[in-house]
Amino acid sequence: MDDMEQLYQEIILDHYKHPRNKSEIPKQDMQADEENPMCGDRIMLAVDVEGDVIRRIRFDGKGCAISQASASIMTEQLQGKTIAEASALIEEFVAMMRGEKSVTQSENEEWLSLSGVRKFPLRVKCATLSWRGMQKVLAAQ
Ligand code: ZN
Repeated sequence: MDDMEQLYQEIILDHYKHPRNKSEIPKQDMQADEENPMCGDRIMLAVDVEGDVIRRIRFDGKGCAISQASASIMTEQLQGKTIAEASALIEEFVAMMRGEKSVTQSENEEWLSLSGVRKFPLRVKCATLSWRGMQKVLAAQ
């Protein structure tokens, strides 16, 4: 493992062990409930939108480190963005994880950390689960 890979692994573990914006979500606040049967991941989302700006994203869930770290990263990166900005970022993120877009085009350290899953097609769904859930929430706005 080289230094960069080690750094990336640390970023993922940090988000997994200390998830940002994670809290229990009351049923009436829940706007997305996504499951990945391949490895038992579950992501629930509650999103507060004011005008066209995403003010707050809360997530709850369980599953593998990739799915939970990716959800934590997603909440940090999309909070404060407009719906249009967030939608564009989600599309870019999913394209990158699916290998349709080169990693080097992005200088986003968190995305680079998650991009290791591209070598394991089954894990791509783990990384994109929360972002796809968010996409659905925004589409319903
Ligand atoms: Zn998973």
